[in-house]
Amino acid sequence: MSLFSDKAFIVDVLTPVALDQAYSYAVPAGMALEAGDVVHVPFGPRETIGVVWEKREAPSGGASNLKSVRAKADAPALAEPLRSFIDWVARYTLSPRGSVLRMALRGPEVDRPERVQIGVRLTGPLPKRLTPGRERVIAAAEGGLLYSKRALSDLAGVGVSVIDGLIDEGTLVPEAILPGSIAERPDPAFATNLFSDGQQAAVDGLVETVKTGEFSVTLLEGVTGSGKTEVYFEAVAEALRQGKQALILMPEIALTGQFLDRFERRFGTRPAEWHSGVSGRKRERTFAALASGDARVIAGARSALFLPYAQLGLIIVDEEHENAYKQEDGVHYHARDMAVVRGRIESAPVVLASATPSIESRVNAAKGRYKHLLLPERHRGRPMPEIGTIDLKSDAPARGKFLAPRLVREMAETMERGEQVLLYLNRRGYAPLTLCRHCGHRFQCPNCTSWLVEHRFRRALMCHHCGHVERRPDNCPACQAVDSLTACGPGVERLSEEVAEAFPQARVLMLSSDMPGGTERLRREIEAVAAGEFQIIIGTQLVAKGHHFPYLSLVGVVDADLGLTSGDPRAAERTFQMLQQVTGRAGRGDTKGRALLQTYDPTHPVIQALVSGDSERFYREETAQREKAGLPPFGRLAALVISANDRQPAENHARMLTRTAEAPQDVQVLGPAEAPLAVIRGRHRFRLLVKTPREFDLQSYLRHWIARGPKPTGNIRVSIDIDPQSFY
Ligand code: ADP
Ligand code: ZN
Repeated sequence: MSLFSDKAFIVDVLTPVALDQAYSYAVPAGMALEAGDVVHVPFGPRETIGVVWEKREAPSGGASNLKSVRAKADAPALAEPLRSFIDWVARYTLSPRGSVLRMALRGPEVDRPERVQIGVRLTGPLPKRLTPGRERVIAAAEGGLLYSKRALSDLAGVGVSVIDGLIDEGTLVPEAILPGSIAERPDPAFATNLFSDGQQAAVDGLVETVKTGEFSVTLLEGVTGSGKTEVYFEAVAEALRQGKQALILMPEIALTGQFLDRFERRFGTRPAEWHSGVSGRKRERTFAALASGDARVIAGARSALFLPYAQLGLIIVDEEHENAYKQEDGVHYHARDMAVVRGRIESAPVVLASATPSIESRVNAAKGRYKHLLLPERHRGRPMPEIGTIDLKSDAPARGKFLAPRLVREMAETMERGEQVLLYLNRRGYAPLTLCRHCGHRFQCPNCTSWLVEHRFRRALMCHHCGHVERRPDNCPACQAVDSLTACGPGVERLSEEVAEAFPQARVLMLSSDMPGGTERLRREIEAVAAGEFQIIIGTQLVAKGHHFPYLSLVGVVDADLGLTSGDPRAAERTFQMLQQVTGRAGRGDTKGRALLQTYDPTHPVIQALVSGDSERFYREETAQREKAGLPPFGRLAALVISANDRQPAENHARMLTRTAEAPQDVQVLGPAEAPLAVIRGRHRFRLLVKTPREFDLQSYLRHWIARGPKPTGNIRVSIDIDPQSFY
C-alpha cells in the first residue's frame, strides 16, 4: 500500500435542485473521485445524483459525521470550464447554482444503461398457421433486413401482437439493433465555395479568429441573403481542421431542415442536433459523443450552451438578435450573452450573426469590444426587396376583411407570373377576441388577464398564456343570445379563409404550429414551399426566420403596426428586426422581391426605415434614444416579479420589498406596478423595475436587498430577471 492511499477525502456535491449550496460528503475508502465527477449521494430521505464541485482532504480524525457518497455514476464528468460556467451563470442571473446545474445534466438519464432496442429478422421457418396478417409481415420482412417491431408492424399494417406471434413460432428472430454513430465526422474539405471579394474578406476575418484559438467576439452583420451562413461555415471548417468542436446556436432549430441540408452539402454529413425534439436515447448519446469529442459540430437550441464539450473551439450564435434566446422561466438567461461568457471561459471565439443585430451588439461593435464584419450585398448581386406601404386609412380592406384591394391585386399579378406570395401575420388562431354582438360579453381566460383566442381548426377558444382551452359555445354565456358571437380581428386561420375566397384556385398553405403533426410536418411543409409547391403561404413568425424560398417574390405584411404599440422599450427595435427578416424572404431567387406593409401610420420611424432601406439611420436614432434614457446597453435593468395566488399578498409584499430598497445615487427602483398581464395561470403579479448605470454592480445590489428585505411567506414568490426582454 502506498503512503497516500489511506488519506480520507471530503467532496462538496452540488445537486440539480433549486439550492445554491453544495453539501459535503465523505468519500468512501477506495473510491476514486475528482471534481466534476457525477455521483449518487443520499439527500434527505432519498438518493439523488450530483456533481463533485470541490474535493479536499478530510481533517485528521476523518469525517465520520458526514454521510458518504454512495457511488460514482456512469456519466461524463463536468470539466472545469463547464463548472465555472455554471457558477458564473448562477451568479449573474441570481439563480441557485443547482438550478443551473440541472440544465447541464438534462441530457443523460444517468446510469440507465442504454436500452438496447430489439429488432427482428426473417430467418426462421414459415409458421404452421398462416393468416393474412402473418403473410403480409412475411412479405414485408423478406430480404432478411433487420426491422424494429414497430416499423415492421407499420409496414405490414398489423398489430405488434402479430409480430410477437411470429417470434414465438420462430419465424422472426429477435436481434439487437446497434445504435448508429450520433454523427459522422464532418469533413472540412468535403466541398468548397467560391466567395465574392466581400464574402472572402469576412471569411478570412473569421478563419483568423478561429486560428488564434483565443476568445474574441465578432459581429457578422450582413443583409438577408448575403451569405452569412456560407461564410461562418468556413469558421466551422477551420475549427474542424484544428480538431476542435463547434457549436452553432439557432433560435428555431427544430425547423431548420434546410440548414442541415446546407451543412451536409458543405461538410458531407449533417451536424448533431440538440433541441426539444431530440428524443431521450438520442439525447444521451449526443451528450456522451460531445463529452468524448466524437461529435464535432452541434446545431442546437439555447440549452446546447450547457453541454459538456470536450474541446470547444467556436461558438456561432445565428440570428443573434432573436428574442427566443432569452429563457423566460426558471433560470432567466440570455443565450447570446451567455455564449459570450462560455466562449471566454473556454478560450473560444464567438461569432454573432444577424441581418438586423441587436442594439446591444451594434454598440459593442461600435465601441470596439467586438470585431465587426460586414456583408452589405446579397449573394450574386441580387437586389434587396423593394419595400412599399399600403395606407389602410385610404386603401381600406372591405368590411370584415383584412387585405387591402391593392395587396390583393399585387398577389394576383405575382401568381400570374408563376411566383409565390407570403402573407405574414404574427397572430395564431382565427381571431384574437370573441365577443357577443348583443351584450358585449368578451371571452376571457379564467386564469389570466387575457382574451381567449378562437382556434377554428381545433374548434376551441384558447389562452395563449396558460393553455386553457374551452369549447366555443353556440350561444352567449352571458345573455343567452343565439348566434350572436363575433370574431374580432384577424388570426392566420381567418386570413386563410379570406385568401381562399379571393383566390379559390390557388394552392394555399397556412404554416402554423397549431396544426397536428408537429415539427416533422412543419419541416416538410417548409421544404415544399422552398420547392415552389404552393402559391400563397400564410404564416406567423415561424416563416419569417432564415428560410430560403427561391420562388417567393412578394411579401405582404398584414399588420405592420402590430407590436409597435406595446409598452416594451424594445418594441421599435423588435418590430424593425422582425419586418426586416420577413420582407427579406422575398427575392432570394432569380426574381426581384417586393414587400408591402399594411399600416395605419406610414410615417412611423420604423416603417420609414424599412421603406427607405436606411437601417443605419434607424439604428442611429434608436441608439441615441436608448442612451438618453439610460436603457441597455447604456444602463442596466432588472425586473422583479412578485406573484401570489391572491392579489393583496402579492401587492403587500411588493410594497414592503420596495420600502426596504436602498436607492444609491443613479439607481432607480420603479414600481411596484400591477403587471400588464396582471394574472397569469391564476397568479397575481406585480412588477418592480431596477434601473442602474452600466458600471453598477447590479447583482450585488439585488442580492443584498433581497437578503435584507421581507421573506416571502406562503405562496408568494419573487422572481428576478436580469436584462429583462419582456415587460408584461
Ligand atoms: P444569409 O444567411 O445571409 O441570409 P445565406 O447564407 O442563406 O444568406 O445565403 C443566401 C443564398 O445564397 C443561399 O442559397 C446560399 O447558399 C447562397 N450563397 C451565398 N453565398 C454563396 C457563395 N459564395 N456561393 C454559392 N452560394 C452562395
Ligand atoms: Zn390563461
